[in-house]
Amino acid sequence: MTVVTDIIPCRMCGNYVELSYDSEAYDRWQNGTYIQDAFPEMSASDREMLKTHTCGTCWDSMLSGDDEDPICPRCGVEYAGFPALSRLDNKTNICSDCGMDEAMQDFTGVPLTDFLSESK
Ligand SMILES: [Zn+2]
Ligand SMILES: [Zn+2]
Repeated sequence: MTVVTDIIPCRMCGNYVELSYDSEAYDRWQNGTYIQDAFPEMSASDREMLKTHTCGTCWDSMLSGDDEDPICPRCGVEYAGFPALSRLDNKTNICSDCGMDEAMQDFTGVPLTDFLSESK
């Protein structure tokens, strides 16, 4: 067994991750052995780093973060698609239904639902 140390930059965040592995196992992997069979001792995030050059942190955020729909602070409902900008402060994103509701309140002269101070 020949342990080599490799420093690989993460392709997502550019952080360098140092990996030590058995070069013979590396050759087995390159020759078609499953990576988890070639490196049974290695942690899953290290294997991912070796295989896809994605560090554990980026891998986690890729798995958890991206698919989540934002939650509208006005009605508390998860929404998909483009958010609307609340007329209350012109910086809070709300769902398009609430955006339409606010536009209607504005149009009919009804005071806007103040969801920003209500939640405090
Ligand atoms: Zn990264
Ligand atoms: Zn809403």
